Amino acid sequence: RIINPIERPTVTQDLSENVILTTVDDLYNWARLSSLWPMLYGTACCFIEFAALIGSRFDFDRFGLVPRSSPRQADLIITAGTITMKMAPALVRLYEQMPDPKYVIAMGACTITGGMFSVDSPTAVRGVDKLIPVDVYIPGCPPRPEAIIDAIIKLRKKVANDSIQERSQLKQTHRYYSTTHK
Ligand code: SF4
Repeated sequence: RIINPIERPTVTQDLSENVILTTVDDLYNWARLSSLWPMLYGTACCFIEFAALIGSRFDFDRFGLVPRSSPRQADLIITAGTITMKMAPALVRLYEQMPDPKYVIAMGACTITGGMFSVDSPTAVRGVDKLIPVDVYIPGCPPRPEAIIDAIIKLRKKVANDSIQERSQLKQTHRYYSTTHK
């Protein structure tokens, strides 16, 4: 039947926009949730545990995670190992080459704080979040594969509740070290 515009329920403009955005968010997040593709990025001993996770024992693929060698095919980077000052520009460049929306998991004490190198090393970065925004932290030295799986589950919950609008605002306001901001 043809609906008379006068009979339509009145909704405010705000509510109308939010309903549409929420529905698109749900569909968009559902599609991304089970296909997070992590870039292979390991700099030290933590990566050995990440490599173990990729094997059949932990069945990493059941979460839809397919490790990629190119940043352009990845929407997740798990920084596994020590980050040095010399390596920092390369890491940021890799992050910038990943398509949006993208996520970061910081794995291990060295990545999160500089770890044992934070005392007197002149070259260790004291926290990868000084370079790129981190979504989930995994403490430990090294964290076991089960801890990485726990972080993936936490990230999936975050992706499920993501908002396109809020994420674009975050991108506009977030300031991180950039190879283009020298
Ligand atoms: Fe190695 Fe421990 Fe540092 Fe991981 S946190 S890179 S296992 S020293």
